[in-house]
Amino acid sequence: MNKMAGYSSDVGTSLWINNLVHGLAGITIKVKHAVYCAASPFQKIEVFDTYHYGQVLCLAGSVVLTERDGDVYHEMIVQPAMLSHADPRKICIIGGGDGGCLKEVLKHPAVETVTIVDIDSMVRDTIEKHFPRLAAGFKDSRVEVVIDDGFHFLKATKAMFDVIIIDSYDPGGPVQSLETADFHRVAAQRLEKDGLAVFQTDSPIVRPEYLRQTLSLLSPLFEVARPYICMLSSFPEGICSFVLAGREKNFPDRFDSARYEALANGFSYYNRDIHTGAFLLPQYLKKKVEAGRA
Ligand code: SAM
Repeated sequence: MNKMAGYSSDVGTSLWINNLVHGLAGITIKVKHAVYCAASPFQKIEVFDTYHYGQVLCLAGSVVLTERDGDVYHEMIVQPAMLSHADPRKICIIGGGDGGCLKEVLKHPAVETVTIVDIDSMVRDTIEKHFPRLAAGFKDSRVEVVIDDGFHFLKATKAMFDVIIIDSYDPGGPVQSLETADFHRVAAQRLEKDGLAVFQTDSPIVRPEYLRQTLSLLSPLFEVARPYICMLSSFPEGICSFVLAGREKNFPDRFDSARYEALANGFSYYNRDIHTGAFLLPQYLKKKVEAGRA
């Protein structure tokens, strides 16, 4: 085993987190020690302290957040939507219990309300105990946390939103109500005319069918549904995909440069070039995506 800078592979426990693709290949993360292990009514919740990724949160046995690249993921699920929208003020985050999307949304001073809907209150409790940097946003007076199924919430609420962020996808997660056609229809209905919705669509290499399925569910509902990607070393095959959807044809051409410049120093991955480049897919991914649109 090659020796990583700063420590050799023969230190610490022999405990490893395996994030494998179909059990055959993937990444494996050496653990210093387990920090927290519990089971909520919905999923197993585990926190590990690791040598290379810092603290890692696993839900239902999947790595969903690491200190090392969590900012990359949260910047990329939030900022393309927030800076493509002319004036986002009312935000909804479905599955935002880990506080990461919230941290990114609150960087925008004009945001007036953020509604976080998570089915599992134990996720937020875990974040407050073990990831205080992510939990800080929950104390913001603009934030309302709703413990509910995201689908049930969007069906029942009369609220309208400028941006809806669906950050609740995790394989084997608590309930699969957010992967249905009805859910996407209801999400579209809760958006203002110029509203934008962003969906996390997993690894486009490991599960291209999920990205295709989301695109086919969204195309009857939105004028534009654009897939985009980011590099994420803790993700199987190192790429995570998203879809940004809106009813206004010209939203892809919009980028609020002034708002971006005011925030730019606070980003670790997202920037003006990434805002455009993330939507440019390599040929093999374009083929996988187009295969679904045929
Ligand atoms: N960043 C993570 C990832 O990369 O997969 C996604 C965020 S986290 C794992 C998913 C969150 O969605 C969890 O807090 C989970 O409790 C929540 N969740 C799952 N299904 C949900 C549902 N139907 N309604 C609301 N929240 C849900």
